[in-house]
Amino acid sequence: GREWHLVSRPVGWPAPENFALVEAPVREPAEGEVLVRNEYLSVDPYMRGRMSSAKSYAEPFELGKVMHGAAVGRVVASKAEGFAPGDQVVHWFGWREWSTFKAATAVKVDPELAPLRAYLSVLGMTGLTAYAGLLRTAALKEGDVVFVSGAAGAVGSMVGQIAKLKGASRVVGSAGSDEKVAKLLGEYGFDAAFNYKDGPVAEQLAKAAPDGIDVYFDNVGGEHLEAALGALNLHGRIAVCGMISQYNATEPPAGPRNLARLIQTRGRIEGFLVGDHYDLQPQFVQEVGGWLGEGRLRHEETVVDGFEHTLDAFLGLLRGENTGKMLVRLAG
Ligand code: NDP
Repeated sequence: GREWHLVSRPVGWPAPENFALVEAPVREPAEGEVLVRNEYLSVDPYMRGRMSSAKSYAEPFELGKVMHGAAVGRVVASKAEGFAPGDQVVHWFGWREWSTFKAATAVKVDPELAPLRAYLSVLGMTGLTAYAGLLRTAALKEGDVVFVSGAAGAVGSMVGQIAKLKGASRVVGSAGSDEKVAKLLGEYGFDAAFNYKDGPVAEQLAKAAPDGIDVYFDNVGGEHLEAALGALNLHGRIAVCGMISQYNATEPPAGPRNLARLIQTRGRIEGFLVGDHYDLQPQFVQEVGGWLGEGRLRHEETVVDGFEHTLDAFLGLLRGENTGKMLVRLAG
């Protein structure tokens, strides 16, 4: 089987020479382990952080070793109680075609509830990120005006829809192309949306949310965060989920220049990590699974075919080539 290794640490935008596609033996499971053939791999923005050696909440990827990430696949051989060949599992040993690992680190999924790939998107980590960040960190209330950046992405598209389902009075999104903006308005139920490449974010946000915003769900940072602070209403909340505009930057970013708005507005800005919110998982699966079943929640995956294109998929994600969750499908 093949696997992707990180062979040098990118500075700025990752380049193909930072990675190697390597042939590796497929190992039979030992006691307590399963051998899984991966079917879909997730590529995620946080992986850019793990390619750097800088201290963060997750360990850096080791050079010359396989990279990790979420994946779904089928058990091929098992020496673990409760796991049998044919079982479908979600696990963290992606960026390889075959994985042998301790079964206790995987979760069996129900393919009746949703297609397997949904466990990497709407019912997976990105879905929970949207759910926890909006409902817990930003403490969404009925009647709130909500702004979300990266709105056509995996997390952002869920944030906008969950906000509407939970009674937000107005939901505004920003994204990086006119096609994405049209989709937010036409298919995802956003009340207003704009292309952040068309002009200053603050000006476009002022038009889209003339009465200001109560919640900002930040996926982007930088100019978006400054614009959101500028539009923040009394007791507004900003949940900082990610700052993707800075992930490939080689210089420290300029901070938002208007942080003092937090004083006037008695506003609150708070970062969060989905890993701290897995206690919400049962409630999340029940509520979001329910909306899915009732057809009240859309989800979309941009699927890149072929394990050898995993790196292209990752780079495409950073360039905005995805709508919804970016995934790689392995040859079946
Ligand atoms: P997305 O599906 O949103 O994909 C990334 C998107 O970012 C691209 O499609 C692109 O869309 C947009 N983008 C890229 N560069 C820029 C830029 N310079 N300015 C504005 N937008 C840009 O990814 P996810 O939904 O998986 O992740 C969204 C955010 O959530 C990321 O910041 C990620 O790090 C964060 N995250 C945080 C977690 C946590 O626990 N805190 C957990 C999971 C994700 P466009 O065409 O619109 O530019």
